[in-house]
Amino acid sequence: MNQALIAYLYSDTKPDDEQTKKLINFLKAKYGDVRLAFKSDEHIKNGFILKINNDIYDWTKEGRIRQFKNYISSITPGSQLIPILRSAIGDWRMHIIPEQVGTVISVGDSIAMVSGLGDAQYGEILLFENGVSGMVSDLKTDCIGCILFDDGYDVNQGDAVYRTGKKAGVPVGEAFIGRVVNPLGVPIDDKGEILSSLYSSIETPAPQIIDRQPVDTPLETGILAIDSMFPIGRGQRELIIGDRQTGKTTIAIDTILNQKGKNVFCVYVAIGQKAGSVASIVKTLRNAGAMDYTCVVVSAASDAPSLQYIAPYAGTAIAEYFMNQGKDALIVYDDLSKHAVAYRTISLLLGRSPGREAYPGDVFYLHSRLLERSARLSDRNGGGSLTALPIVETQAGDISAYIPTNVISITDGQIFLESDLFFNGQRPAVNVGISVSRVGGAAQSKAVKKACSSLRLDLAQYSELESFTRFSGELDDITKTQLRHGKCLMNLLKQRQHSPINRHRQVIMLILSLGNITERIPYKNTADFLNTVFEKIENEHSEICAAIDNDGRLTDEYADIIKSAGEETAAVMTNG
Ligand code: ATP
Ligand code: MG
Repeated sequence: MNQALIAYLYSDTKPDDEQTKKLINFLKAKYGDVRLAFKSDEHIKNGFILKINNDIYDWTKEGRIRQFKNYISSITPGSQLIPILRSAIGDWRMHIIPEQVGTVISVGDSIAMVSGLGDAQYGEILLFENGVSGMVSDLKTDCIGCILFDDGYDVNQGDAVYRTGKKAGVPVGEAFIGRVVNPLGVPIDDKGEILSSLYSSIETPAPQIIDRQPVDTPLETGILAIDSMFPIGRGQRELIIGDRQTGKTTIAIDTILNQKGKNVFCVYVAIGQKAGSVASIVKTLRNAGAMDYTCVVVSAASDAPSLQYIAPYAGTAIAEYFMNQGKDALIVYDDLSKHAVAYRTISLLLGRSPGREAYPGDVFYLHSRLLERSARLSDRNGGGSLTALPIVETQAGDISAYIPTNVISITDGQIFLESDLFFNGQRPAVNVGISVSRVGGAAQSKAVKKACSSLRLDLAQYSELESFTRFSGELDDITKTQLRHGKCLMNLLKQRQHSPINRHRQVIMLILSLGNITERIPYKNTADFLNTVFEKIENEHSEICAAIDNDGRLTDEYADIIKSAGEETAAVMTNG
């Protein structure tokens, strides 16, 4: 037999017969047979709260204000904000809407378990009584797990929790250029509020295959070792991987610096970094004028794991806005190892079963759904692009660990940085043998491609020869020449941090070194030698620089001019 539902009515005064009759009629129409029980509550003045099942009808002053607030926030502001608000206020009527109000059953470590929100969806934002927000991250049969975007000290057991019906999102738009924000899009620099009327969900589906086109435009890093051998194209995902303190962040920052004047909007996402390191990165970018086209999204090591978890998705949403506008964007995730650790923390606290290395089973999906959002869109979709430079930290050079193998398999190549090289002074410490760029070759400018034809092969020969001859005393002349050539190439690839090299200079350096001209100069004078040749070509043959920089064109004639300029300078320097 079905028992009648009981609806509880809370108020400071008992309703009269007329009111009771109206209420019962309303409830009967919606819930069938209902019994009304009155409970006196002196806190509820000028209104009442009606609870039935999980539904709550809040007809108190606070409830009406909240409903009005929701209504106002659902209006899309246009250019004429005041008239819209005026008419909105005029049109607004209080509705009898059942609200699901949940209750916090436990809270700790930035995770709250909430009961009574049977209809809340995965990824929905919940609002706690004291203004803290959180995201539904686990749906259990009798309660839901919610990650808090706060340390959670203000949330207590028994607090009321409200649904917002909104998925987690951030404001996006041009206003983010030059700003430092947290993963919720709230500015943390001292430049005031960010005014943006656009809002984007942090998780959006990746573009479909037919919405994409092949990568064909270079995204130059300004780092010779990368642009020559592991070129990156716009829309590509290239992993930067290596042990701690091997120059990973520096490569990413240098790439951002090199985008100056190239119409590429950059987002640097710091995940679990020390606040001090992030501050110095922002300073470097600002001093170099790179903040004019860059936004920094920060989730520091001291932030809640939930913020570290959503940071890369939020950063991607901000960058995607530019891609969808038909522009080119670059995003750096520094780094995804810490992101995986933050996600592992959340999963374990939510009580999910641990898998390999205690990561949850869906940790691959964590990164694949993020990196798949990088794309080169087809012309029909505006032709914009989003290039990703994820960073992963390895332990003792072990790239076969769980997270490194996952991210290697998702990306289109990796730049492997090696501690030994770094400590031997070979910086950037790119390991030429195991680094690779799978799609960037098609995007490399023809000039660089032509100039560096034999570079990889020469370097491979050198490294083999070097290990082979390390212990032998007497070497024949050919071997000596080969070793000298190899050494000269290794020196060529050394580059100071934050000093990107432009395309025509890269081409000149490659032609002179692969043409065995640089090695005639003593090592300490190479920088002078190269600078002299740069100036000579730039002053006397600006058409060559223009052809290389603008069209990516290097004719045999141009190569000969560069070579003879090099020969002349070398002759002067070695005789003088
Ligand atoms: P972490 O693991 O701490 O994040 P990382 O791998 O990101 O480190 P960086 O912070 O980029 O490494 O660099 C480590 C140090 O090496 C920094 O002090 C940086 O200035 C220096 N460094 C990096 N690249 C170069 C370079 N090409 N020339 C000289 N110094 C460099
Ligand atoms: Mg770093």
